[in-house]
Amino acid sequence: MIEFINVGKTYSNNVKALQNINLQIDKGEFVAIIGLSGAGKSTLIRCINQMHDITEGSLVVDDVEVNSLRGKEIRKFRQRIGMIFQSFNLVSRISVLKNVLVSFVPELPFWRKITGIFTKDQKIKALTALDKVGILDKAYVRVDQLSGGQQQRVALARTLAQNPDIILADEPIASLDPITARQVMDDFARINQETNMTIIINIHHVEIALEYAERIIGVREGQIVFDGKVEEVTKDV
Ligand code: ADP
Ligand code: ADP
Repeated sequence: MIEFINVGKTYSNNVKALQNINLQIDKGEFVAIIGLSGAGKSTLIRCINQMHDITEGSLVVDDVEVNSLRGKEIRKFRQRIGMIFQSFNLVSRISVLKNVLVSFVPELPFWRKITGIFTKDQKIKALTALDKVGILDKAYVRVDQLSGGQQQRVALARTLAQNPDIILADEPIASLDPITARQVMDDFARINQETNMTIIINIHHVEIALEYAERIIGVREGQIVFDGKVEEVTKDV
């Protein structure tokens, strides 16, 4: 379970990106965070894996106060969390398979990762992850030969290969057309059902959020203004 207790985040430029956030997200939930640009969605999600330090309150994941973790402990904690970005964050000039394999060696310097020798077991895990998102046939293709939707699936496969407890996705469909965006959301939904991984997605496309997520959290000016099931958002409007 992820728990925000009176969490605040003020950046070093004095922007209060989050204020007084109280929130619980249970294991296996599929949550969309919606809100306008600048509302604080990205900050909220990035506090969970400690990409940003919170400046007030506490953030607890499975009974551990993660904002108190340091150095090695943070790195260990982050291995349980998969992160997906709008811009895919792949290495475009190497194969799809290599991009997934690098998730097994997060500590190595970049050049060692791409020249690395991987075990048969790691290759099988990577290929299995590619199969799960329907792009096994692209394993030996260079990433820059793929469409945006296919690239986001590679990023998703890389995360799956890591077998995380939680997937955080920061605007994963923002640069995709509506049809491709829905295909990627289908993948998230299926993974959530099959694996029981907790999935938290930032999305500014409200319609798509409502179609896929079980729970919607609305953020405005750094505060939670709505938190409920999709049926509650859509009734009487
Ligand atoms: P969203 O994801 O909803 O677009 P963000 O979390 O990115 O919102 O931003 C919330 C607020 O914090 C905005 O005012 C933004 O300009 C500011 N902000 C975001 N990241 C930083 C940063 N690294 N340093 C300073 N201010 C930031
Ligand atoms: P933190 O306190 O979480 O380390 P910082 O304020 O030090 O965050 O900023 C982290 C990075 O984000 C810096 O490289 C900064 O240039 C960049 N940044 C600053 N303002 C913004 C903003 N409004 N939106 C997004 N990124 C920003």
